[in-house]
Amino acid sequence: MLGLSLPMTLAQIIDGRAAALLVLEEIAQKVAALPRPPCLAVILVGDDPASHVYVRNKIKACERVGITSREYRLEAHSTQHAITALIENLNRDNSVDGILLQLPLPAPLKGDDIVQAIHPDKDVDGLNVLNVGRLVAGQDGLKPCTPQGALHLIRQVEKNLTGLHAVVIGRSLLFGKPMAQLLLAENCTVTTAHSKTKNLPDICREADILVAAVGSPRLVKASWVKDGAVVIDVGINRVDGRLVGDVDYEAIKPIARAITPVPGGVGPMTIAYLMHNTLSAAHKNLLT
Ligand code: NAP
Repeated sequence: MLGLSLPMTLAQIIDGRAAALLVLEEIAQKVAALPRPPCLAVILVGDDPASHVYVRNKIKACERVGITSREYRLEAHSTQHAITALIENLNRDNSVDGILLQLPLPAPLKGDDIVQAIHPDKDVDGLNVLNVGRLVAGQDGLKPCTPQGALHLIRQVEKNLTGLHAVVIGRSLLFGKPMAQLLLAENCTVTTAHSKTKNLPDICREADILVAAVGSPRLVKASWVKDGAVVIDVGINRVDGRLVGDVDYEAIKPIARAITPVPGGVGPMTIAYLMHNTLSAAHKNLLT
């Protein structure tokens, strides 16, 4: 033995920023071909600084692709009745194609309930129960943005998902459940894990595609990842003033075949797919 160490192979870093720019470019071209620009109404309730940043970024993305945005700011103490009345007006307004209620809402408002007032054809977050049902039934409908963005990134490194074992950690309505449905529609064998799952590391070690959406910094350890797996990190956590994901990125890089960074992975794709959904809603409103 000469004692030479082999060079370590690192995972391909899946660049969500670059992928999102390409999606946005394509959307801008399709927007320009419509009889009028699509219109997205964004409702922001209260003063949560993070929500303000998210809304600002969504409005910037609209400007970039030529979508008109209308922002409605309501006081934190607004009633459920007032928010629902605004949504119903926007549902009736034919010049509005998509409606986004920025979540979470300030307590005691229940965002999950109020969002149901949005007409399914304008529900660009894909949270209306009709759209949830359409996704499960394999029918056309608006689907949640982040899982669509995550699937787009998976497809960049894995063209044929048929028969692969996908493990999704997290079962939220916003991400985990729709992600599992999208992967199932790609013919993956899907396992959904959650806070009550037993032997999570063993289950993760079975995954060809491992998707983490928990909100727990660096929960997924290198020893949980199968050699050559594709790892998609959806988590956004602030640790010591830095954003980190739900997976131990540096430790997993030498094991995975491909991995998304945080920031710069799934995050930018969420806004790109919000634009995609707004375009789809406008297309349906204007051309069908
Ligand atoms: P959520 O509604 O809080 O759901 C978290 C899920 O993780 C739940 O299903 C929970 O299980 C599960 N969980 C909690 N602790 C666990 C553990 N120790 N082991 C296994 N599962 C566990 O969160 P979410 O809205 O899905 O978001 C998840 C993360 O993704 C957050 O960090 C969020 O900021 C991020 N996110 C990012 C984007 C983006 O654009 N990049 C978009 C959406 C979300 P139970 O159901 O049993 O409670």
